[in-house]
Amino acid sequence: MMTRRLIVIGGDAAGMSAAAQARRMAPADALEIVAFERGSRTSYAACGLPYLIGGLVESPDRLVARTPEQHRANGIDVRICHEVLAIDVKAATVTVRDLDKGQETDMHYDELLIATGASGIVPPWPGIDAEGVLQLRTLDDAAEVERRIGAGARRAVVVGAGYIGLEVAENLLARGLEVTVMERLDAPMGAVLDADMAAAVADAMREAGVDLQLGTAVTGFTVTDGHVSAVQTAAGSVAADLVLIGLGVRANVELARAAGMEVGEAGGIVVDEQQRTHTPHVWAAGDCVESRHRVTGRAVVVALGTHANKQGRVAGTNIAGGEASFGGVLGTAITKFQDLEIARTGLTEREAEAAGLDAFGVITEASSRAHYYPGGQSMRIKIVAERQTGRMLGAQIVGGQGAGKRIDVLATALWNKMSLDEVGGMDLSYAPPFSPVWDPVLLAAGKAAAKL
Ligand SMILES: Cc1cc2nc3c(=O)[nH]c(=O)nc-3n(C[C@H](O)[C@H](O)[C@H](O)COP(=O)(O)OP(=O)(O)OC[C@H]3O[C@@H](n4cnc5c(N)ncnc54)[C@H](O)[C@@H]3O)c2cc1C
Repeated sequence: MMTRRLIVIGGDAAGMSAAAQARRMAPADALEIVAFERGSRTSYAACGLPYLIGGLVESPDRLVARTPEQHRANGIDVRICHEVLAIDVKAATVTVRDLDKGQETDMHYDELLIATGASGIVPPWPGIDAEGVLQLRTLDDAAEVERRIGAGARRAVVVGAGYIGLEVAENLLARGLEVTVMERLDAPMGAVLDADMAAAVADAMREAGVDLQLGTAVTGFTVTDGHVSAVQTAAGSVAADLVLIGLGVRANVELARAAGMEVGEAGGIVVDEQQRTHTPHVWAAGDCVESRHRVTGRAVVVALGTHANKQGRVAGTNIAGGEASFGGVLGTAITKFQDLEIARTGLTEREAEAAGLDAFGVITEASSRAHYYPGGQSMRIKIVAERQTGRMLGAQIVGGQGAGKRIDVLATALWNKMSLDEVGGMDLSYAPPFSPVWDPVLLAAGKAAAKL
């Protein structure tokens, strides 16, 4: 039997999920697996980085699910500090640089998986390269934040009030820093929530002591002796000795594009449901690809670890000769700011309108527990639905403990295209410590159905 070679570019969630799945399914004499990672770590949970800087996670090693040595022991030839510089799809080779030795080599592949992830958006603002202006994307970034806090940084400005901005702000506050969050839009979480749901997030941030500056566009940084000393905006400047940029991400598609692969309008590598690109024997997964949105049917790039892991597993299964498909995305996501849980699935009302749908939104206020049982937390649930058909398009939840994960019930309903009536009548669990007799999800679906 000929041994085929799978080359994986990118040693994190998507790449190593694919490699591990292919390894499980195909014996080593049938499939050799070589994974190139330009960094020095593999399979680390970027999702845990904010909690590492906040001190909830005690060491960087806790965020590493599998080290390069563990992958090697599992039969995957992981080469860290190796950057893939080019792909030649005709010759079926990749050009790789060993970053330690500075040597370049070409290696042949029978199957290639591109899992190069995404990079943070960094606008060309004056002073952006100053020391102390950072992103939080890798363990090295977290170490740098830690070093600067250790060196006496006290005033932090977070640019962007999306998920990562919020999580970073919460954790810098926990470390005792003064935190300003600057956001160009008029509400935090503007890409995630409708404004009528985001107000509670703004309130929580301000109550916690964050100087939340909405409608504030950053124009540049004041740099003193090479180090950031203030953030400039149209309204004036704010002193800072640490700046964290959290402005979203862009898929890393340069290698694929240069090799002639198709990059879609949403900005990711185009793949089918098996994670196959249009180029024979080349697969792609994770933050670098486009996925199908299950509500709009459109191609989108949704950079989340949950998709990267699943897509990697699908790619690994198919590469090893099995059969698996990725079912698409709803953009289901959850985060928190201190005690406030924030979650969404599907489309916001604004997104639905932008997609040309005739949508309406209904907000329901409810409690997480029976009214007589102590400790109930209030929550707001917004259901977004299409006026003509009555189909659910999306949902958002903002509330206290026990609110956020309720989004998964609504995501399940949305995934399965259930009607609002069906959702309102579902058999959900009830006991006073966990919910009122009508769970907030049932109430919200019923209230939205009544508007049809
Ligand atoms: C602070 C933070 C918090 C997050 N929180 C959540 C969360 O709560 N929930 C959630 O679902 N998602 C979260 N995410 C997103 C999640 O981490 C990503 O979606 C996930 O890591 C994507 O996995 P990936 O393998 O596609 O890409 P990445 O994790 O970016 O991995 C790509 C890898 O490819 C390597 N690489 C790139 N180009 C080359 C090359 N040419 N040669 C060799 N190696 C290369 C990179 O060094 C990198 O290690 C968070 C992300 C961050 C940064």
